[in-house]
Amino acid sequence: MRLLFRRLPLVGRIFTVAVLAVLFYFTQNEYDSVHQQALPALNLDSAKTKQKLSLLEFHHTISHGQTLAQILSSSVVQPSDIFPALEALKRVFDPRRLKPGQELKLMVDSSGTLHQLTYAASPELLIRVKRAETGDFLTDFDSLRIVPQVNFLAGEINSTLYEAVVATEESPELLLAYTDIFQWDVDFFIDTRKGDRFRILYEKLFVEKENGDRKFVRYGKVLAATYEQADTSYFACFYEDSTGRSGYFDRNGNSFQKTFLKSPLNYRRISSFFSSGRRHPILKKVRAHTGVDFAAPQGTPVTATAEGTITKKEWEGGYGNCVIIAHTNHFTTLYGHLSKYAEGLQVGDRVKQGQVIGYVGSTGLATGSHLHYTMYLNSKPIDPLRIRPASADPLTPAQFQNFAKHRDQMLVWLDRPLPMAAIGPIPDFYID
Ligand SMILES: [Zn+2]
Repeated sequence: MRLLFRRLPLVGRIFTVAVLAVLFYFTQNEYDSVHQQALPALNLDSAKTKQKLSLLEFHHTISHGQTLAQILSSSVVQPSDIFPALEALKRVFDPRRLKPGQELKLMVDSSGTLHQLTYAASPELLIRVKRAETGDFLTDFDSLRIVPQVNFLAGEINSTLYEAVVATEESPELLLAYTDIFQWDVDFFIDTRKGDRFRILYEKLFVEKENGDRKFVRYGKVLAATYEQADTSYFACFYEDSTGRSGYFDRNGNSFQKTFLKSPLNYRRISSFFSSGRRHPILKKVRAHTGVDFAAPQGTPVTATAEGTITKKEWEGGYGNCVIIAHTNHFTTLYGHLSKYAEGLQVGDRVKQGQVIGYVGSTGLATGSHLHYTMYLNSKPIDPLRIRPASADPLTPAQFQNFAKHRDQMLVWLDRPLPMAAIGPIPDFYID
């Protein structure tokens, strides 16, 4: 999801859906969202019927900074139940991982005795602490089934992509996932034309409740997509080869994954471009701006644009708190004005592409909170928005055989003339 938000400011225009066809099919595939053994389910029915208790149900939404102990202490639960219930919960869940917005449900009788505590640790994980007949608290949890639904969205650009999404009840996250795939090939900010067409085959993930109801949780993968212009057309499909390597590939098995991300953060706007001469807003004199300034709120995570080694993590004059990373092929990147560094980050550390290295701030000479980002090639500053980094390795000839089969299946679904019509269920093999 981190990637999905990076291009947010760039999609505020562009398309309107001319035609939309949504197609769905519930597969039986299950996602392993929890890697734990479920404890045996507890049956409290006998206890309930014996005591004929009428239980009161309390719902609580966790707010920021609250602890479970605080919540229980200020609830109707009798104090002597709080510690044992929390101890029982700790057997399966670390209460420090409590997140604001999550739901807590308490079942209490009129004397304040806690009978059940239910906590939704995530949309697909429900934890229960139950009072047994002995009075002890026992714990179990339900891992709800995540069901992927494959959807298809296609349209023709008329005004803005954002409008198109709002009209279809899909969220901008989907379009961000889509624009991320093609980010180095299409600049959706300037390259789009009226009449351009897009097609997206993507997963939506739902949790399935016991009663069969489904609730949308988040988007899964974009499985395949095209972007067609008058003279060019782009195709990408997600593929995982037999070695476990996965990513987006074009028709010829070339990877869309590039050695550098286009930007190190989810920014609001570019406040200053790379230039050989501009008036410095604080120094009030003309001098080169050897990087790009990305305006973003204080505290926005800043990530390494490529894998590399931290060579500097210290105050660097006008750049304030600064991180420098050395990459392969004589590339270096610099991240300035940070409010703070990522916890535990040390000079000499290897960092992965997309790993958080610090947070946006305004340390050093900065007029407002933004990230200053410079990319160097052989120690000379270059414009990161203009370079076209090399692709990752293409598929090997052996891998390509399987890929071609998969690609052709995807093309069957995507290469259809507009207007789209429902084209039937999507077989399981599309969701691999
Ligand atoms: Zn700058």
